[in-house]
Amino acid sequence: MAPLTEQQTSGKPRRVALLGSTGSIGLSTLDVVSHFPDKLVLTGLSAHSRVDQLLEQAHKVRPEWIAITDIDAGQSVDRSKIPHGVELVVGPEALARKVAGDDVDVVVTAIVGAAGLLGTWAALEAGKDIAVANKETLVMAGPLVMDLAKRRGAKIMPVDSEHSALFQALCSGKPEQVRRLVLTGSGGPFRGKKRHELESVRPEQALKHPTWKMGPKITIDSATLMNKALEVIEARWLFDMPAEKLEVMIHPESVVHSLVEFEDGSIMAQASPPDMRLPIQLALLWPERPNGPTRRLDWTGAFAWRFEPPDTDNFPALRLGFEVARQGGTAGAVLNAANEEAVGRFLRGDLAFLDIAQATGQVLASHDFSAHPDLGELARLDGWARREVGRWK
Ligand code: NDP
Ligand code: MG
Repeated sequence: MAPLTEQQTSGKPRRVALLGSTGSIGLSTLDVVSHFPDKLVLTGLSAHSRVDQLLEQAHKVRPEWIAITDIDAGQSVDRSKIPHGVELVVGPEALARKVAGDDVDVVVTAIVGAAGLLGTWAALEAGKDIAVANKETLVMAGPLVMDLAKRRGAKIMPVDSEHSALFQALCSGKPEQVRRLVLTGSGGPFRGKKRHELESVRPEQALKHPTWKMGPKITIDSATLMNKALEVIEARWLFDMPAEKLEVMIHPESVVHSLVEFEDGSIMAQASPPDMRLPIQLALLWPERPNGPTRRLDWTGAFAWRFEPPDTDNFPALRLGFEVARQGGTAGAVLNAANEEAVGRFLRGDLAFLDIAQATGQVLASHDFSAHPDLGELARLDGWARREVGRWK
């Protein structure tokens, strides 16, 4: 079990930098922090282009600083609207400097996509603890990120509900006693559908998730099952588990968030209603478990939890996740970038739903694989994969 942090023993609130405060995870994090004023305080907030929303948050929360990563949006801000005493910084590099500051204890990485890597990396370099929502960082550069955290003595706590569940269940035994990690997934809005029914799916249909309310990119990833693929890779690096010990089960109720099976046959699961505020709270306050804002399970009526194997024939994106978890190296960065570009094209009405996995798989298969890339090589391949998907027909 992780030891108590310095703040937890000193009684001072933990100082939180929240990257991506205007998004779905960002808003849930603001809510969690507001419930624990004695334990958590916000030092900094970042957004990309939703400036008005960020300024509103700044007036409410009064952080030390706010960051706008979109340079144009940042430069055109009406500075008279910034609350007195709050510093504004503009651009991703400026944000990366801020997360490394002395006024930050823990960084919540709730930026979407590959853009999340820079701030996460800077925070880890400075030895800050991370509550990682931005799974793309671990998909792209898992071994490098985990190694950096180890060298700097920084803790990485999962925010993703599946990984939060796995983290908690893993506390029941030793890593060498684990037989398998079973990640659960709702199956998304198209569970049970066949390929011919998925051919004409439109963005507005794919954006309707049955159990979770999330940002558009992860919602599309959930519809293709690419989200579960990314989570398999995330678990591979976060828990240092070989791909052979990772499995996925579809669980439409989204209440059991994942399970760990141990060698003796015991299965430990974590269950709670689908509400991201619980894993966020856990990532920030672990090992404490105070009563917080999260919804609770209703035990007054009968209910059932279903589990079924995933359909990888109709949802081939999931297979790519296992493939990449096995390969490591440059495969994660290519998969991630190709998928991000493909999702962007789908949302613009420029690519068919089934082509997201198809294009991503083809670009992945044709890339120049290397087993031990550095960040520079990953960045180069990220750009290459985006260009390849950009011209994919
Ligand atoms: P949203 O789309 O709701 O929010 C994304 C946030 O990132 C916004 O604050 C946005 O700013 C900011 N942002 C967007 N582009 C950039 C950029 N280029 N540079 C810097 N900041 C940027 O996403 P979610 O909150 O749904 O997801 C965030 C991350 O958490 C993702 O990695 C996702 O996979 C992960 N996650 C999300 C879950 C969920 O329930 N939503 C569950 C588990 C993981 P602005 O608003 O100004 O555009
Ligand atoms: Mg998840």
